[in-house]
Amino acid sequence: MARSNTFSAPRRHSKSIYLGKVQVGGDSPVSIQSMTTTKTANVEATLSQIYSLAGAGCDIVRCTCNDGEAAIGLAQIVPRSPLPIVADIHFHVEMALAALEAGVAGLRLNPGNLRKPAEIKLVAQEAKDRGVPIRIGVNAGSLHPDLYKKYNGVTPEALVESAMNELSLFGEVGFEDVKISVKASNVVLMIEAYRILAETVDVPLHLGVTEAGPPPAGIIKATAGIATLLSEGIGDTIRYSLTADPIEEVKAGRVLLEALGLRERKGLDLIACPSCGRAEIDVIAVAKAAQEALEKLNLPLQVAVMGCVVNGPGEAREADLGIAAGRSKGHLFIKGKIVGVVKESEMVSALVEEAQKIAKEGVEA
Ligand code: SF4
Repeated sequence: MARSNTFSAPRRHSKSIYLGKVQVGGDSPVSIQSMTTTKTANVEATLSQIYSLAGAGCDIVRCTCNDGEAAIGLAQIVPRSPLPIVADIHFHVEMALAALEAGVAGLRLNPGNLRKPAEIKLVAQEAKDRGVPIRIGVNAGSLHPDLYKKYNGVTPEALVESAMNELSLFGEVGFEDVKISVKASNVVLMIEAYRILAETVDVPLHLGVTEAGPPPAGIIKATAGIATLLSEGIGDTIRYSLTADPIEEVKAGRVLLEALGLRERKGLDLIACPSCGRAEIDVIAVAKAAQEALEKLNLPLQVAVMGCVVNGPGEAREADLGIAAGRSKGHLFIKGKIVGVVKESEMVSALVEEAQKIAKEGVEA
């Protein structure tokens, strides 16, 4: 609805893999991932979080499989999950094998944690036999010690070499069903590592700034890294690693992909001016109240709340619904047409009412 975003950078060509029914890479849309924060052994709590994540627009979810109880939990979660589940197995080969046995749609291996070539090849062979893809998830915080020594620290080249070493071990057993991430908490380092990786391989890439921290700073840091790469056409699936409810990760991912025109809008896009001394209503209060009320409707609408006549009519006309304020009141726009004048105190209820009408009846363009 409303204006469309056209993303200009051509997507980097990548092979595609499937996590359950979700395609990653190739010509598939960039997918959104998150990770549960519950104990995987707590089946009901984990499933409840997975359902909430799915409702927020998550495409793929990762759960930790860090011990035997988690593996038992996974076996019960997988058949009831609305999303494909990727197991993160951390240090133990036994957990990778148990997760495969539980029927997960994917595995994540960190080359810095699971280091024995024989074990890595065993997992790859088992995954190959079951048609389960693996993410090679390199993390700057757990770089393989040999590479740390070789490069005298963590560098983009060291992160890429770690991924390539793992990829070559997979190659020894003929396993190619792979995606790669080279995450770092340092945004510049992460961007450079992915750029090198994108030149080196054609497997799908999973983007993320690891340990980005709590919002809003965490969202800004993650966006700086992820958006820079996406704008260069690099990246097939993303995760915001926030110190927050994982729902926030999914929301941030959706907003970014929708803003870049990489995913169709599923929810509200609120355009509001920042307000200034010219404002003739309390833009911040009206926009905040409109956001809270309209988000609940869960409609793919673009709504503009503008404080005065400078840019107000232009933005309000372009959106599905808009308010362009004058002194304590404003023109209400529906699909570019002025349909009335509303008082400041009634703006939010008028927007909600019109949004509900659009949802029910549609509107003539
Ligand atoms: Fe200020 Fe008007 Fe611009 Fe809003 S639209 S920021 S009130 S000039």
